[in-house]
Amino acid sequence: MTIERLTDLIDPAKTPRLVVKVGSSLLVGKDGKPRREWLESLAEEIAEARARGQQVVVVSSGAIALGAARLGLAKGGRGSLSEAQAAAAVGQIALGGLWSELLGKVGITAAQLLVTLEDLDDRRRYLNASATIGKLLEAGAVPVINENDSVATEEIRFGDNDRLAARAAQAARADAVALLSDVDGLYDRDPAEEGASLLGRVEGVTAEIHAMASGSSSSGMGSGGMTSKLQAAEIAERAGIALAIFNGTQERPISRAMSEGIGTLFLPRRNDGALKSWLGGRQRMEGVIVVDAGCAKALAKGGSLLATGITEVEGEFGRGAAVGVRDVQGKPLAQGLVEYGSAEISRIKGHRSDELANLLGYAPRSAVIHRDQLVLL
Ligand code: GLU
Repeated sequence: MTIERLTDLIDPAKTPRLVVKVGSSLLVGKDGKPRREWLESLAEEIAEARARGQQVVVVSSGAIALGAARLGLAKGGRGSLSEAQAAAAVGQIALGGLWSELLGKVGITAAQLLVTLEDLDDRRRYLNASATIGKLLEAGAVPVINENDSVATEEIRFGDNDRLAARAAQAARADAVALLSDVDGLYDRDPAEEGASLLGRVEGVTAEIHAMASGSSSSGMGSGGMTSKLQAAEIAERAGIALAIFNGTQERPISRAMSEGIGTLFLPRRNDGALKSWLGGRQRMEGVIVVDAGCAKALAKGGSLLATGITEVEGEFGRGAAVGVRDVQGKPLAQGLVEYGSAEISRIKGHRSDELANLLGYAPRSAVIHRDQLVLL
């Protein structure tokens, strides 16, 4: 059963497993304290979802905001990486305690998972996280996930919990993600402009859709903004996961959005399957392969990536590495796992398959990236 409208997110037949992402500005008040009443109302809604037969995973921000207030740090703890790391260390312990207490009050056991971008980009660690989430849900607990901000450094962090929520949804094998935000959804232009209208449904995040996002977070407390929400929607839509953005500022945010029907629903576009979904959602690539127009066409038709279509290879990587594939104009086309390291690819690029044995001195592999290990973007 496919998800087609916002209310499908509360239908256990269509959304047996739901990820709910709560942004910092919803969780933490301007005074730096948790918005308890609001959180209590959300905990009640989570209990109701479970009573309906849905399993729920929470992705919760707020560690940096809570910790910064306690440590008295300027700029909400986001002035420098080390301040954010310290703030998160203080805030996360409070955040975990808060969820444990509030979910406990409605009879739910909370479980805490802290992950980094690398944890989810590494296949083995990703599968571990996935198994843990599955086991927790089976056991009736609600996993509460956040980025491990105290150890994540600038180059290797999500930084926003929107993409993290989409990645966590893949790991959780969820059907849908609800991004609770302080905006109503995606507008066709800056919502401050006159005549801006809210998009109810988006079928595929195109360049036109990207152009609508302004990139700034309206509250200034979180780090998300619409750009990262669209990136999250792209990760989700390729993995067969629906994603909704709606305004969660009022109490009982989920019921409210469902009854008012206000929000933006990004429909799943295709379901790449488990391995390809993980690969397509990987955030860091170890290198880049640039291909010519003929190769780009073959890839779009579902073909494997062959040496003959490669014009350039960037970065140093070994066999099995995850690389990005781009066309000569620099447009990202695909992500895949290579059969050859970068040094070998440099030697065989531009050559036909029947020339490879001679160039390499050994029997070549069937492709540089086999189609089973390749995800179109
Ligand atoms: N992980 C960060 C925190 O807990 C929030 C990231 C975001 O703003 O999306 O504070």
